This record gives sequence, C-alpha cells and structure tokens, in this order.
Amino acid sequence: MVRSIPPCPFAVEELIPELAGHARTTTLLYPRAGSPGVRDSSVGGPLLWPADEPWPVCPDAGHDAMVPVVQLFARDVPELLFPAGTDLLQIVWCPCLHDDRDEWVALPRLYWRDAADVSATGLLADPPRPSAYDEDFLPRPCTVSPTPALEYPNWDMPEGLSGTLGERFEEIEAATGHSYYDVATTIQSKVGGYPGWTQPPDWPDCACGRRMDHLLSITATEPAHGRWLPYDDHAAGGDRPVWLTDADPAVEDGIGHGMDMGDLGGIYFFVCRHCPETPYAYRYDC
Ligand SMILES: [Zn+2]
Ligand SMILES: [Zn+2]
Repeated sequence: MVRSIPPCPFAVEELIPELAGHARTTTLLYPRAGSPGVRDSSVGGPLLWPADEPWPVCPDAGHDAMVPVVQLFARDVPELLFPAGTDLLQIVWCPCLHDDRDEWVALPRLYWRDAADVSATGLLADPPRPSAYDEDFLPRPCTVSPTPALEYPNWDMPEGLSGTLGERFEEIEAATGHSYYDVATTIQSKVGGYPGWTQPPDWPDCACGRRMDHLLSITATEPAHGRWLPYDDHAAGGDRPVWLTDADPAVEDGIGHGMDMGDLGGIYFFVCRHCPETPYAYRYDC
C-alpha cells in the first residue's frame, strides 16, 4: 500500500535552479512492526527461501545462522530494475559484528530470484535462528509500504554547490520556515534515489571500473514527524502544519525495524548493472 505524504512545501528548482536535473525518484519503504508472510515484501520478515538451498551461515568463528533483512517483490517496487529473469530481491546478514574497514558491522548477502521458481521447488519450512547476535543489527519483522517520492541530494550535492548553496538554504529557511534538508532530502530506509548516508559519501566502484548504482539503503532512522511522515500516521487534532506534525502515539512504537545500527547509521547496497552477474557491494556508516 502506497503511503500518502505531504508535498514538498516549496518548488525546489524554482528557488534553487542549480539543482535542476538533480532530483531522483526514490521508493520509501516505511517499515512498520507487523507479521509479514513469506510472500510479502518486508524488512526483517520471513523469506521465500527454496527448500533445496541451505540457509546462509556466517563463516566467522562463533557466528551461525544469518537473519532476513529485506525481501522485495518486483510487483511492490515497480521503480526497481530487476536483473532479467528475476522478480524477487532478498538480503540477509549475520547480525554479529565484523570488522569492515575499521567499522564493526553486520555481514550481508544479497540474492536475486524468480519467485515462481522458488515456489515450484518448495519452501524451506523452518529456517534456523542465530544463537549469537548483536541487537543493533537484529531487525524485528516489519511490513513495508513502498512509496515513490522525489528527493534531492544531501551529502551527494554536486561538486562545488554545497559551499555556495549553504547561504541560500538559510535564506530559504528564514523565508519559508522549512529546511531544505528536512523537506527535500531523506534519511530513511529506501530503494533507489540517493543513499541515506549519515556521513560523507563513499561510493564503491565495480571491478569493471564503473561507479556502482545505489540499490537500497537500510537506515536506523525513520521519520516520526515532519514532511516525510505519512498523513495517516499523524497525531489527530492540533493545528500544526502538516510539515511539523508528530506521529500519533499509537503508531509511534511501531515505526521502524528497531535496529540502532551502531550510532544510528545505515547500510547502503550498490550494484553494477553493466556486469552480467549484477555484482553488489555495501557500505556502512554511523
Ligand atoms: Zn558473522
Ligand atoms: Zn561492473
């Protein structure tokens, strides 16, 4: 179900013509605690996993079963380009900590599948749960509501613009009451668009030499107020403008997958669509 969100309160490219051409379509996932099934898109939910394929385990000593993190069916995310012959994307990770270029983070794996093939094979009935984990990287089961939106760059501001636009952003905020970063950029779990970096960008290059494309971001933070909070999560009553409304207390506890991911960071997945095997890479920041 697509969520309805308030429009951007100002026309970004009218006020900031330098950003013309830099809008990107992203699909915001809006994970909410729930009970998704194996045939549902989800974050942290059960996976449509083939019976004849062993459940992934981590090779590190003392670590064992990996956990479901993302499952997306093509039907739910029309903007996501699936490799030919596939319509199901799955990400699992080992929820223990692994040294990744001096950061300590979960160890992910990514799979593209044909859902009909998996169903024809039969499903793995009872995937193992990990006996060792770090709660920072153990998601609770969430339904998702993939919602397309237009966003503009935050950390990925075009070269030379971040310095010159700072003053303009302040003028716009003084005149409209809205921060460019709050209403035109997003840090939340999403597919495509700009990565939800919380630190300076670190785009991976593919072995073929090309910079990889952003596939999706899983971030510790999800909007609980402001422009990106869907209308039907808004607290009732009150007379605050939609861009300043807080979440209904009844829904607030259900927002997000519950992972702190270190100090409220994120894991960002990238793919190369030029190489035949669709190689992937990930980055972590916090
Ligand atoms: Zn591990
Ligand atoms: Zn490549």
